[in-house]
Amino acid sequence: MDLFLHCCCGPCAAGSIPQLLESGYQPFCWFYNPNIHPFQEHKARRLAFVELMEQLGLEYAVNAEYPLEDWLRQVADAPEQRCAYCYRSRLEAAAAEAAQRGFKAYTTTLLVSPYQNQELIAEIGRDCAARNGIEFVFQDLRPGFREGQADARERGLYMQKYCGCIYSEKERYAKKPRPVKNEEGIKR
Ligand code: SF4
Repeated sequence: MDLFLHCCCGPCAAGSIPQLLESGYQPFCWFYNPNIHPFQEHKARRLAFVELMEQLGLEYAVNAEYPLEDWLRQVADAPEQRCAYCYRSRLEAAAAEAAQRGFKAYTTTLLVSPYQNQELIAEIGRDCAARNGIEFVFQDLRPGFREGQADARERGLYMQKYCGCIYSEKERYAKKPRPVKNEEGIKR
């Protein structure tokens, strides 16, 4: 069965695609992720996705639109709840694109990550599917996560260090501030 596959990045696509093929799906892969900040990081992940597609010889397309200003405006008042908007903005766009391209079903590589809220992704995915007259395919892809990471590394793909948005970048690096010494050489 043909399946429209929203791809968040190369490594997650590398983990998801073998499992979907195994399940009998023929994926058409599509990149759209305005949640990846800053611009150079977005570019690095987009190019890694393209590299993987070329290596795998799969059909794919890229939407390189980058509405950073609008994305930040949407989450700035309640950044702790940002992931729901982040999922919806991408899945709504993916469902609409899938329907427009004539697909009857879509899914997302977000389902491969143990760091994402799979239940919420499935709920939003189904809602976006219904609004666009198609089906959301739910498959727990997490079992392929580690393998996908290893495969992506072997293929020489860019491996990101944080989820995507500037908030997640801060959480990744600001958690453990390095102890600094004062003038007396005492750590604080
Ligand atoms: S942490 Fe990840 S899923 Fe949540 S808003 Fe940021 S980029 Fe999106």
